[in-house]
Amino acid sequence: MANLSLITAVARGLRKRCPRCGGKGIFRSWGQLKDACPTCGYTFVREEGYWVGAVIVNTAVAMVSFFVLFIGTILLTLPDIPWALLLGIALGSMGLIPVVFYPTSKTLWMSLHVHFNPGADTL
Ligand SMILES: [Zn+2]
Repeated sequence: MANLSLITAVARGLRKRCPRCGGKGIFRSWGQLKDACPTCGYTFVREEGYWVGAVIVNTAVAMVSFFVLFIGTILLTLPDIPWALLLGIALGSMGLIPVVFYPTSKTLWMSLHVHFNPGADTL
């Protein structure tokens, strides 16, 4: 199989598609992957510890979003910084983004794994 380009990998991950074929319908329910891709059979059952990478991706996205919103709000509202709004942004971004982004973090992590480890996914 040809190596998956980084752009294709990220696009598939962000659209919650199969990292190998780009197929849809890989989630059994919200946040819970099927055992394998219904299109190509790529297995989503992984060894213990594999999904720590998805947690790292999820945390990184939440933190970057928080800092962009936090610094952006400060820069846009200087000199009268709305601290209550910033508190809401902090709580919202650090509380909601990890929950909302959870399924995407899994597919993004798998896509990055396939991109950076071509051939390693033939378990
Ligand atoms: Zn597939």
